[in-house]
Amino acid sequence: MTGASDPAATDEPPTSTGTSWASSAGVRRNMQANRPRDTAPELAIRRACHSRGLRYRIHTRPVSSLRRQADMTFRKARVAVFIDGCYWHGCPIHFVEPKANASFWKDKIEKNRQRDAETNSELEKHGWIVLRFWEHEDPELCAGTIEQVVRQVTAVTKRCSDAAPDH
Ligand SMILES: [Zn+2]
Repeated sequence: MTGASDPAATDEPPTSTGTSWASSAGVRRNMQANRPRDTAPELAIRRACHSRGLRYRIHTRPVSSLRRQADMTFRKARVAVFIDGCYWHGCPIHFVEPKANASFWKDKIEKNRQRDAETNSELEKHGWIVLRFWEHEDPELCAGTIEQVVRQVTAVTKRCSDAAPDH
């Protein structure tokens, strides 16, 4: 059995940001770990994708040899979706520089951003398309983009592998 509790419990975000984006429960939860699961924005995007008839896996590694989990994985289309928390991934609109321990937090967020970039390039090297969204983005618009890309790629793949039996 795997414990659900996060051992990195000392990872507390600065408390005096005073901006509205940190006020919802979903965002607050999102601030407690680098890649939390099932945040409100993530659920909203998943719901919107599902109602568009898209099917996907959640929280799996697109490439099993790479220790990186995508929030949503469209295996057939080879599309990996990440919904990034505004604080931890340094959203240009909502990231507010912390007043206390500024260098500590900036360093942490910078590391996350580097890791994100590395994840993108590693997955792309393996032939995956990576889509990243900020948690503040409209879930319907995100789902629309995801749908467009997934359907486009799937259509092309189908045409290219016409000779191969479908399965
Ligand atoms: Zn944001």
